[in-house]
Amino acid sequence: MRSHARVVIVGGGVMGIGLLYSLAEEGWTDTILVEKGELTSGSTWHAAGQCPSFIADYNLAKVHAFSNDLYARLETMTGEATGWHATGGIRFATNQLELDHFKRVEGVAANIGFRMQIVGPEEIHRLNPFVTTRGVLAGAWTLDDGYVDPSSACNAMATAARRLGATIVRHDRVTGIERLPSGEFRVSTERGDIACEHVVNAAGCYADRVSAWLGVQTTFANMKHQYVVTGPVPEFVGRDDEMPVMRDPYASAYYRQEQESGLIGIYERSDTREAWAEAGGPSWESSNELFEAEYEPITPYLERVMERMPIFADAGIKRVVNGAISHTPDSNPLVGPAAGVRNFWLATGSGIGIAQGPGCGKYLAQWMVHGAAEINMIGMDPRRFGAYADKAYTSAKAHREYWDMYRLIPPGEERPEGRPAKATPLYEKLKAKGCVFTEGFGWERPKWFSLDGRAEECGFRHNNVFEVVAAECRAVRERVGVFELPSFAKFDVSGPGAEAFLDRLCANRVSRREGGIVLAHALTEGGRIATEFTITRLASDRFFVLSGALAYQRDLDLLRFSARHDEVVTITDVTADYSALIVAGPRSRDLVAKLTTVDLGNAAYPWLTGREIAVAGISVRALRINYVGELGWELHVPMAHVVALYDAVWAVGEELGIVDFGLYAMNSLRMEKAYPGWGAELTNEITPVEAGLDRFVDLDHDFVGRAAVVAARERGASSHLVYLEVGATDSDVAGGEPVFAGGRAIGVTTSGGFGHATGKSLAFAYVDTGYETAGTRLEVELIGDRWPATVLAKPVYDPGNVRLRA
Ligand SMILES: Cc1cc2nc3c(=O)[nH]c(=O)nc-3n(C[C@H](O)[C@H](O)[C@H](O)COP(=O)(O)OP(=O)(O)OC[C@H]3O[C@@H](n4cnc5c(N)ncnc54)[C@H](O)[C@@H]3O)c2cc1C
Repeated sequence: MRSHARVVIVGGGVMGIGLLYSLAEEGWTDTILVEKGELTSGSTWHAAGQCPSFIADYNLAKVHAFSNDLYARLETMTGEATGWHATGGIRFATNQLELDHFKRVEGVAANIGFRMQIVGPEEIHRLNPFVTTRGVLAGAWTLDDGYVDPSSACNAMATAARRLGATIVRHDRVTGIERLPSGEFRVSTERGDIACEHVVNAAGCYADRVSAWLGVQTTFANMKHQYVVTGPVPEFVGRDDEMPVMRDPYASAYYRQEQESGLIGIYERSDTREAWAEAGGPSWESSNELFEAEYEPITPYLERVMERMPIFADAGIKRVVNGAISHTPDSNPLVGPAAGVRNFWLATGSGIGIAQGPGCGKYLAQWMVHGAAEINMIGMDPRRFGAYADKAYTSAKAHREYWDMYRLIPPGEERPEGRPAKATPLYEKLKAKGCVFTEGFGWERPKWFSLDGRAEECGFRHNNVFEVVAAECRAVRERVGVFELPSFAKFDVSGPGAEAFLDRLCANRVSRREGGIVLAHALTEGGRIATEFTITRLASDRFFVLSGALAYQRDLDLLRFSARHDEVVTITDVTADYSALIVAGPRSRDLVAKLTTVDLGNAAYPWLTGREIAVAGISVRALRINYVGELGWELHVPMAHVVALYDAVWAVGEELGIVDFGLYAMNSLRMEKAYPGWGAELTNEITPVEAGLDRFVDLDHDFVGRAAVVAARERGASSHLVYLEVGATDSDVAGGEPVFAGGRAIGVTTSGGFGHATGKSLAFAYVDTGYETAGTRLEVELIGDRWPATVLAKPVYDPGNVRLRA
C-alpha cells in the first residue's frame, strides 16, 4: 500500500468515483480512493439509477448534463457494460404554475443544450401508451436522459480512472484523519497511513463522522427512500420500445420499466424518514445495507401511481428497496472546500447522486486542479451552511425537501421548517409590523412589508405584492426608508500589516484616506473573482471589511488562509456582533442629523466615507454607501442596540415620511443603478475583465491574480457582462434565462428585476463578444416568450451618482 499521494478520496460511491475519474482527466493521477467495502456498497448500489436532465438551476443543470453525456459514452470508452437506457423522461404539469416552470426550464435547456420539449397529452400517450393523463396539462419531455445500472456504471468509471493512472483500494477503512505540521494530512487506514496534500470526503452517509475528525461540520441528514419493483407486467413482455421515466407530482412518484417489471419510487410526506435515527448513524460494519420495507407510508401514493398506470395494478410487488440517502437543507449537494481546513474537500450530500456524481466530480476536479470551476459553484459550496445549521435544523429542512421533491416551489414561497435559525432582537418588532422575512445563511431578513395583511401569491409573474414593493421603492427614492440587513459578513482586519495585506489580497487598493471606503475584489491566482469586499478604513491600521451573507465562511477562510507569517495582521470575525440599519433616500441626511451631533454635510462626510460615530447615543459604524443608489448611511450597530436605534430612527423619521423596506425593493433599486451582485454576476467563472470591473482593478500594485488579469486583458474577453432593458410586461428576469441574437443563443442572464421608479424591466447577462455594445438589440426568453432587450450603456437611474453625492 502506498504511503503518499497527492489526493486521498474517502469513499467509493458514485461521488468519490466520479471525482477520481475527473481528477485523472485533469491530469491528477497521484490519487488514491479508499473504500471500506466493495465499490458502491453504500447508497450507490441500490439506487434506481435515474438521471434526470430537467433541472431549473442553470449550474446544476450543467452538472446533470455532464453526467448524462458521460454515461451515454462510458460503455464505448471502457468496453464495460453500464446499463445505460436512453429512455428520456417525462415530467407532468397539472397546473399553470408548473407549466410556467416548464417554460423556464426549456430556456435553461436551450442554453445548456439538452433536448427538451413541452408536449400535450396526445404526445404523452404516444411516448407512454400505458399512462392515463387525467388532470395533466402537459409534460416536459427530456430526450437525452435515462437511467443506468449504478454499480456497473461506477465500475466502468473506476476502470476509466485506473487506466489513466488512479489507484483504488477496496476493503480498507479510513479510521482517522489528522493535519500534520507540514500542512499535509495523515489519513490512517486499517492497512496503514497515507500522507497527502488533499483529502476529499466522499463518505456518503458517513461523511459527518469523517469530517468530525477534522472538526468540520457537514450539513446533511440521512434519510430513507423506497422504491418497489412489481412482478412482470404482461404489456412489457416482448415490447421493443421502452417508456420514458415518468415523474409525477400527483403521486409524488417516479415510475418506469425495469426489464419486464415496473419500478415505482415514492417521495412521501413523513416526519420520520431519518435513517438510523436511534443509532446516530450507520455502523462502520454496515455494507450493502437495506431497511425493512415500510408499506404504510407509501400506500396512498402507490394507489395514485396505479391510477396513472393501471397495468401495474395486477402485477403485485416483487421487491422493495428501502435504502439510505442523504439530503441537505436545500437538496443541493455539498461539493467544494470544507470550512476552516485548507485542502479538505467535500463531495457528498447528494440525494440524487447517480445523476450528479460524474458532473460534480468534473467541476470539483476543475476547482481542485485549477483553483476554480468553469461553472458557478456557489449553490453547491458546502460553506453555504454554517454552525446555525445544526442537526434539528438540518433534519427539519431535509424532511421538507424530501417531500417537496416533485412539488414546484414557486419563487417567493417561504417554508417555515427550521426557522428562525438566526433572528436579531428586532425580528419580533418587524414581524408585528407585517414584515415578511426570507432566510439567508440562516438570518431572517425583511423581504417586504405586508401592511394590509395580504399574503404573497407566489409565482413567476408579477403578483399581488408588485404594487406594495413599488410603494416601498418610491418612498426610498422620494423620501427615506429603513431596512435591517443583519446578514453581512463582517470582519475587523487590523495591525501594522493590515493595509499591505488587504492590498496584496485585492485587485483594488484600500483607501489611503482615514474613513475612506472602497469596493475591492479578491481574486484567485487564476484571476477569477473569489469575493467582493467593501473595505472601510476606520483608522490607519484598522479596517472594517464587509461581504455578502453567503460569503461568510468562504471569506473568513480566505482572509485567514491568506495572511502570511511575515504579515502582522489580526482578523476578527465580528459578524454576529453587529446588525445594520440601512437608512436611505433624499431625506436620510435630515433624519440621521436629528440623531447625531456629527456634521453629515458633504464637506465633512462625503460619499464613500465611514466613521465610528454616535447616533441616538449609540456608537455605530456609519458608512455613507448603499446598494440602492440614494443618499444614505449603513448604520452598523451593536446587536444589543439595534432595537433602540431602529426606534430612534422611526421616532424622528415619521415626519419625514419614513417607510420600512426589504430585499424585494432593494433588488429593484439596485437594478436601476446597475449594481452587479457577488454570486450572480461576480462569480468564480469570470475575471474582472469579463465583468467590466476595470475601475476596481489597480494594476499599479501587486495582488493575487494580477498576472492572470493582465493576461486576460491582453487576450480580451470572450464573454461580457451587459446591462439590459427588457421589453417584458408581466414578468422579469430571475437569472439563468437564455439570451438570443438572430435566433441563436448567445448568452445567459444572471439576475434581474423590475425598476419601479423608472418603470423598466432590467437584467444583467453574460453575452458573447460582438453583442456587448450599447444599443445592441437582443432577445431574452422569459417563461416561454421571447422579449426584445437592448444593451444599455449606463444605469437607468442617476447615472452620474448625483443623488449619492447629494
Ligand atoms: C431507494 C433509493 C433510490 C435511489 N434512486 C436514485 C436515482 O434513481 N437516481 C439518483 O441519482 N439517485 C438515486 N438515489 C440516491 C443515490 O443512491 C445517492 O445519492 C448516491 O448513491 C450517493 O452516493 P455517494 O457516493 O455520496 O454515497 P455512497 O454511495 O454511500 O458512497 C460512500 C462510500 O463511502 C464509503 N465509506 C464511508 N466511510 C468510509 C471510511 N471511513 N473509509 C472508507 N470508505 C468509507 C462507504 O462504504 C460508501 O461506499 C437513490 C437512493 C435510494 C435510497
